[in-house]
Amino acid sequence: MMKKKILSILTILFAVVLIFTGCSKKNESTTTTTTSNEKIKIVTTTTMLKDLIENIGGDNVEVEGLMGEGVDPHLYKPTATDVEKLNKADVIVYQGLHLEGQMTEIFSKLSNKKIIEVGNGIAKDKLLKDEEGSVDPHIWFDVELWGSAGKYITDELGKFYTDKKVTFEDNYKKYKLELDNLHKYVVEKTNSIPKEQRVLVTAHDAFSYFAEKYGYEVLAIQGISTETEATTADISKLADELSTRKIKAIFIESSVPEKTVKALEDAVKSKGHEIVIGGELFSDSLGDKATNSETYIGTVKYNINTISKALQ
Ligand SMILES: [Zn+2]
Repeated sequence: MMKKKILSILTILFAVVLIFTGCSKKNESTTTTTTSNEKIKIVTTTTMLKDLIENIGGDNVEVEGLMGEGVDPHLYKPTATDVEKLNKADVIVYQGLHLEGQMTEIFSKLSNKKIIEVGNGIAKDKLLKDEEGSVDPHIWFDVELWGSAGKYITDELGKFYTDKKVTFEDNYKKYKLELDNLHKYVVEKTNSIPKEQRVLVTAHDAFSYFAEKYGYEVLAIQGISTETEATTADISKLADELSTRKIKAIFIESSVPEKTVKALEDAVKSKGHEIVIGGELFSDSLGDKATNSETYIGTVKYNINTISKALQ
């Protein structure tokens, strides 16, 4: 009698366990239909991506960026809290192309099913490389290329949340029109700078996409990553070139310490050429509310306004 009872209890328990495992398997599927007003929690890395995803996702998403204003993504090391946030997110979006140089291992260990690596959505022939063949990750400086990044995120999010696909696409189309206008704005501002003055001297090589697209020459103190520091010889060589060519201005970058640019300024002046620091450019993070540059569009406008003013 007792044995029979225990057996039937065990059978019920077994069935319950089966039902629950069945349920949790269902939840792990990569295509999800969201319920009513529940927002999709997206965790991303840079401020540029946060802004882009907010424009695409609109009211349907809640986006958190791990890196704040002025943070250098090449050097950023994730904290334990970041890892927790990544593991709890519905969707993770990161840039890739080795921008988040210290996070590669974390990304490879994530258990999330919905991960978007934006670099995978950029056509290979659009990617720039440095002299050593490393891919340049600073794609957001080419406004049209940033639009392609947005298209890729839109498509991927639409695959994950099929019921929101049309909304994401509509949001993207609207935002793309704003990006098209921004592109025209950069072209017009560039045209106002004399051709021989279209030279950008910055702390690290972040502006190649910008230069390629809008017709500037770039001379940087450091390479495409801030992971390697500039030597005194690098600075001296660049100072020689700047004083010979009578370049008017050099620029500070928001996410790189000023000291390298200051060192360059001193080196140029010691060679008898007066050079000015033309202002601060936002390079690897968006700007701030104080300068009306907390969005991607605001940042690009702020940069081109600063550049065109200094190089007139
Ligand atoms: Zn950079």
